[in-house]
Amino acid sequence: MSPQEVVRGALSLLKGMKVTIRAFLGPSVTCQYPRETLELSPRFRGHIKLVADEEGKLYCRVCGLCARSCPTGCIVVEGVKKEGEKRKTLTRFLLDFTRCSHCGLCVEVCPTGAVAFSQDYNLASFSKEDFYFDLVEEFRRRGGG
Ligand code: SF4
Ligand code: SF4
Repeated sequence: MSPQEVVRGALSLLKGMKVTIRAFLGPSVTCQYPRETLELSPRFRGHIKLVADEEGKLYCRVCGLCARSCPTGCIVVEGVKKEGEKRKTLTRFLLDFTRCSHCGLCVEVCPTGAVAFSQDYNLASFSKEDFYFDLVEEFRRRGGG
């Protein structure tokens, strides 16, 4: 090996070390999941969720438009018409999340803005049954009313 090659090798090594040292001394970019979580983009698409007004009343009017628009048929909505009320009340909103493609059609077509994408990205399970949701139940479980 010639002296020029040794110098070239040493310079190349120093160049590489410069990058390593800069990254080592710079701010950490590693997120210690699950103890730490990253802030998600407002446009992040988790599974869909139900939206309610300030009093906790769901906007959904059980028109079924979302279910009919869903290309994978993963939504089922059920409601009852209570006595004295003009509109139906939502009783079940079933989502088969295993088939959802996050296309957003249900969110777009809803005339009352009753569905939106959640920021929930922590879903993991060995059982696909864990991805069948009743969004009404989930809404109540999260203290939505
Ligand atoms: S979520 Fe919207 S589109 Fe779907 S049934 Fe309710 S009101 Fe209709
Ligand atoms: S995002 Fe698309 S696939 Fe998922 S439930 Fe809505 S319409 Fe269906």
